[in-house]
Amino acid sequence: MDREIRVRMAPSPTGPFHVGSARTALFNYLFARHHAGAFVLRIEDTDLVRSTPESLQSIYDGLRWLGLGWDEGPGRGGELGPYLQSERLPLYREFVSKLLTEEKAYHCYCTSEELEVRREALRAAGKETKYDGKCKDLAEPERSALEQQGRKSAVRFRMPSGGQTRFTDMIRGEVTFDNSLLDDFVILKSDGFPTYNFAAVVDDAMMRISHVIRGEDGISNTPRQLLLYESMGLPIPQFAHLPLLLGKDRSKLSKRHGSTALSEFRDNGILPEAMLNFLALLGWSRGEQDAEEILSREELIERFDIASVNKSGAVFDLEKLEWMNGHYLRSTPLEKLVELALPYLRQSGLVGKVLSDSHRRHVRNVLALVQERIRYLSDVPSMTAYFFCESLDYDEKAVSKAVKDSDVGQRLEALSTRLEGLREFTKESIEQAVRSLAEELGISAGKLIHPTRAAVTGQGVGPGLFELMEVLGREKCLYRIAAFRSKFLSDAVSG
Ligand code: GLU
Repeated sequence: MDREIRVRMAPSPTGPFHVGSARTALFNYLFARHHAGAFVLRIEDTDLVRSTPESLQSIYDGLRWLGLGWDEGPGRGGELGPYLQSERLPLYREFVSKLLTEEKAYHCYCTSEELEVRREALRAAGKETKYDGKCKDLAEPERSALEQQGRKSAVRFRMPSGGQTRFTDMIRGEVTFDNSLLDDFVILKSDGFPTYNFAAVVDDAMMRISHVIRGEDGISNTPRQLLLYESMGLPIPQFAHLPLLLGKDRSKLSKRHGSTALSEFRDNGILPEAMLNFLALLGWSRGEQDAEEILSREELIERFDIASVNKSGAVFDLEKLEWMNGHYLRSTPLEKLVELALPYLRQSGLVGKVLSDSHRRHVRNVLALVQERIRYLSDVPSMTAYFFCESLDYDEKAVSKAVKDSDVGQRLEALSTRLEGLREFTKESIEQAVRSLAEELGISAGKLIHPTRAAVTGQGVGPGLFELMEVLGREKCLYRIAAFRSKFLSDAVSG
């Protein structure tokens, strides 16, 4: 590759930052870092109606959260800025003027209502609904008459007639489009703003972008863009169109499949490392010998190869993401896990704003018990509520299973007495008490463990009973066993 490697991410701030855009950004970033090139962020905010400051913020937040720092772009500057298209209008107008002078473009005075009426007529006649060329060859007097009527004009690109447009896609190979499928498309709207195809070409050329890596849904724009490069004599970058993201049913990933906004994954407690790792493998097949799935940022950069990106769609497999997140959560140091989980515990009201040292220690002990099993940080409150609440939420099934045998009350009573008598309340001493009592009663340990779990947690499953009882503490355990008996078992002693 002889040209300096420069790639760009060019999102439009017209909605929450999508996981598909995050994947595109990541592939650009990996490509740039792998080749020691530059990763540019350019904001395509020329759609005045649909662009919003919140969407713009979600792009910055999303990229920062994933650690995809841009080398040039908003907030960072760079020699080839500004990097917001809304700040580059004079440049586009300059290029448009040149095309107009060379008669490669022309003013079009058709209003959108008129265009719609004519399109409708074409549709009715079963014809293609391309622009009919009404303003293509307007003579000067006709033009000024229209101007005098106060009509605003857009500028259209004059399509070369016939022929084909070809390019070699780095992922898809040879791609050919018939020019006859394209019409004289608008390059400058009547509000003075450029359209996407035109602005993207001017900017990719002026920002010296060497490789355009974008989603497959952009491929139908590429022939228009190539024709624009040629007509303006601008250097043409190489193109790579990334496979679409699909849901499990192999249809295009959409809200129907669940979350698609990157921020929703963040808010549910997916770790950025997990998201990065997961996104990197979407569409990137790495040969059978490289079946490793857990890869650090450095490994991803080192191994990334655009030539081994697939053509076919990439399934966004939520279960895999959950599994990966579980992996990264398990390898998170406990202190860090406390920091990560606290906002969720606070938000659900289980933990107050101010945390004493002993309370913090309690949170830490609780998290140590569930760390193995967390998939989303947002699950932490429901998984651990019984460690923090005074009153329990009893799981009906767990309770009815626990009270099945007629002597459960006596078993629990006997266990309480043993627990009261323990010198220390540790997982070892609790286990010893449970097992020796079971033996004396001639029952399996499970016959004590299951009802006790239901009594002290209200649940049928959870971390190891002895460990969790130690973390709950003796007082709470005894109190809960008594409460359970009086609530669900008729033989309980009152009080
Ligand atoms: N603004 C376009 C989009 O968000 C960019 C497409 C491209 O990368 O050229 O779809």
